[in-house]
Amino acid sequence: MTDTMTPEQRHRCMSHIKGKGTKPELLVRQWLWGHGYRYRLNVKSVPGKLDIVLRPYRTAIFVNGCFWHGHNVQIENSKLTIENSSCCKIPTTNRDFWVAKIRRNQERDERNTRILQENGWQVIVVWECQLKPAERLERTMRKVELLLNNNLLAQYKHHQPIPYTFGDDEPFPMAAENTA
Ligand SMILES: [Zn+2]
Repeated sequence: MTDTMTPEQRHRCMSHIKGKGTKPELLVRQWLWGHGYRYRLNVKSVPGKLDIVLRPYRTAIFVNGCFWHGHNVQIENSKLTIENSSCCKIPTTNRDFWVAKIRRNQERDERNTRILQENGWQVIVVWECQLKPAERLERTMRKVELLLNNNLLAQYKHHQPIPYTFGDDEPFPMAAENTA
């Protein structure tokens, strides 16, 4: 296969794929990029610290580490008696410290999600454990793709399609063809 990218294009492409970021986020970005989705990272004009922003879809994707964001872990504010989940096991040593830290992250996630939604953005959360092995990644990302396309359609829900009719004197449009 010939490489048709200019050095600038390649650099832009690679910087999207490499960049900085955690491994799970990278998997999501690589999948999106490979399937033709273009996104921005750490967009300042959109509220919250965002992982991946797809502006035409008005959608932000958060890729959460299961431990740091407490996947399936319910933390009560008052009491710190919590259950581990299969992908988030909180150490018994310094348990209160870890619980408080994870709780803070969860609160920040909730706050960011609320602000985004109030501003008309859709939020998709992808968890680290949903990205391995490869077939699970594929399943997860197909769901993400479905959500993205739903979000795109939702923006046009109230938009009336413009009926297209040909005027009497308007010639039927011809496709340009090479007749040589
Ligand atoms: Zn998980």
